[in-house]
Amino acid sequence: MSQQVIGLIGGMSWESSAQYYRIINEQVRTRLGGLHSARCLMWSFDFAEIEALQRPDGWSQATALMIEAAQRLERGGADFVLICTNTMHRMADEVQAAIDRPLLHIVDSTAERIRTAGFRRVGLLGTAFTMEQAFFKGRLADRYGLQVLVPEEEDRGRVHRVIYDELVKGRVSASSRQAYREIIERLVERGAEAVILGCTEIMLLVRAEDSPVPLLDTTVIHAEAAVDRALSGA
Ligand code: GLU
Repeated sequence: MSQQVIGLIGGMSWESSAQYYRIINEQVRTRLGGLHSARCLMWSFDFAEIEALQRPDGWSQATALMIEAAQRLERGGADFVLICTNTMHRMADEVQAAIDRPLLHIVDSTAERIRTAGFRRVGLLGTAFTMEQAFFKGRLADRYGLQVLVPEEEDRGRVHRVIYDELVKGRVSASSRQAYREIIERLVERGAEAVILGCTEIMLLVRAEDSPVPLLDTTVIHAEAAVDRALSGA
């Protein structure tokens, strides 16, 4: 029995990286039993450094840091690599091109889940970068033929601020949960059959009971996909 080594680019934020680590280990224990746990490596960034580069003149430096992190994991023996944030999939293609090991893309893992469930039109919550730029919703539309709905501008602002002002700092508030519930409702009124939690911290705030339609939690989906791959030859 041999598990592949999972390489995790984390720290964006560590609040969600801790969830990845927990889910991956729980899944390996559930699937293999006994005292089994995951073989994994994590490179964990100082998130302040990354956040400061999330602007038009900072993305290329952020890309260089992401590539460096992936290469560190590769040198450390990772068999494949995950970027443990949706937003930083903005540079996923550049990261993949710079390493020899496969990058397990969060959009592909999520799209497979959507396809299996049979949804065609899905809502998307995440940072403004994820909701507004093409790297996430474009991949869902172009590669998987899915229709992606994002909240209206004011709601996008609220979703984004809650992530950066609260969730990445480990703060969970009832008023933000209520705001998210209402934003999800509005996506459902516009025809969303399910809603993607396209930011790896949203699971800290919102649960299945907060939504009238199924929630597709990218943290859980991505972590489970990593375990599927790690155990595929086990
Ligand atoms: N973890 C978040 C995401 O999934 C946001 C933090 C970041 O900017 O990476 O997009």
